[in-house]
Amino acid sequence: MKIAVAKEIEVGERRVALVPDVVARLVKQGVEVWVEAGAGDRAFFSDAAYEAAGAKIINDPGYLWWEADVLLKVGVPQEREDGRSEVEMLREGAVLISFLNPLGEPAIAKRLAERRISAFSMEMIPRTTRAQSMDALSSQASIAGYKAVLIGAAALPKYFPMLTTAAGTIAPAKVFIIGAGVAGLQAIATARRLGAVVEAFDIRPAVKEEVQSLGAKFVEVQLEEETVAAGGYAKEVSEIAKQRTQEAIAEHVKLSDVVVTTAQVPGRKAPILVTEEMVAQMKPGSVIVDLAAEQGGNCACTEPGKDVQRNGVTIIGTIDLPSSVPIHASQLYAKNLLSLVQLMINKEDKSLQLNFEDDIIDAACITHAGEIRNSRVKEALA
Ligand code: NAD
Repeated sequence: MKIAVAKEIEVGERRVALVPDVVARLVKQGVEVWVEAGAGDRAFFSDAAYEAAGAKIINDPGYLWWEADVLLKVGVPQEREDGRSEVEMLREGAVLISFLNPLGEPAIAKRLAERRISAFSMEMIPRTTRAQSMDALSSQASIAGYKAVLIGAAALPKYFPMLTTAAGTIAPAKVFIIGAGVAGLQAIATARRLGAVVEAFDIRPAVKEEVQSLGAKFVEVQLEEETVAAGGYAKEVSEIAKQRTQEAIAEHVKLSDVVVTTAQVPGRKAPILVTEEMVAQMKPGSVIVDLAAEQGGNCACTEPGKDVQRNGVTIIGTIDLPSSVPIHASQLYAKNLLSLVQLMINKEDKSLQLNFEDDIIDAACITHAGEIRNSRVKEALA
């Protein structure tokens, strides 16, 4: 079996699907690994390091994509500068494993099915204990949460920690984290490590204990409806609940120096939680870091990929944060891929074996043998 690692061509993407250490583990198991020349450059993994790990470096991307039994990538397949689409570069029957954003861009699934590609979407790995080592949403969200706080601290015209100096005492910064999922919890931990006083809010009341165990105060909002959907994710709530949430968090936003928003509902536009009126109430110099910018943003003023100024408040619409920590983001993602690929390798003859009775293989596979297999993706296409 030949596993190939493609070079990411999307502007701003610095991660690579496999790192040399993980290549070495696959090679040791008797798997052939091909790496496109320069694939790891932007994450500081050289072709020489891949070669030393036992990979074959391939200069021609067309050859690499066509020969791959399993093609590993980070981001959604792209249209290339030479006019070729990456989906068309794969051989019929090949396996593609990547973030594929199938709920946001379902048309990709249609094209993959037409090409009879067995496509596995890393967003669809179930959030179960057994699948934890493959959970790339979590490994990358954690990096985003960490980096969001660093960006907020760098943009804030104040210190984060309390300091007692000969020139007087500095009060600690107040940080408010909205959405306490994987990214939000890492943001809380990072802000606490930097010495800020931290509050957090999430629509799922179950996270209260986790928030408190990290040393933050949980902001409680009583909503008279179910807020948790299947799989432990947040549900899209009613307009009344959205309004009540906004009223409840307004005072906390107003008093915060840094607000980090991470609230998302899978497959939906991100909810607006910080309104223009709330931004107008914040102190000049305050900062909002919106991790949901790519899904429309949690702040009404957010512009994806831009820093916006409103009455002295800076609203940062972050995109591609995991990519800004490419060494560790690639290292963790490569481990996630390795764990998933292990489920596809026949232990005896090292051939490729897709066992759809395995719940992880079944859930993550969005297209196979010309069919779209995932009902949510089918719905998104309808
Ligand atoms: P996510 O990125 O989909 O959303 C981020 C957070 O935003 C979530 O905590 C969500 O509740 C919150 N949110 C959504 N709407 C909101 C609103 N209107 N107001 C405030 N907050 C709002 O979430 P995620 O980080 O991917 O985690 C989703 C779930 O998966 C969580 O229950 C998490 O504990 C669970 N999880 C389980 C495992 C596992 O068991 N292996 C691993 C990772 C995550």
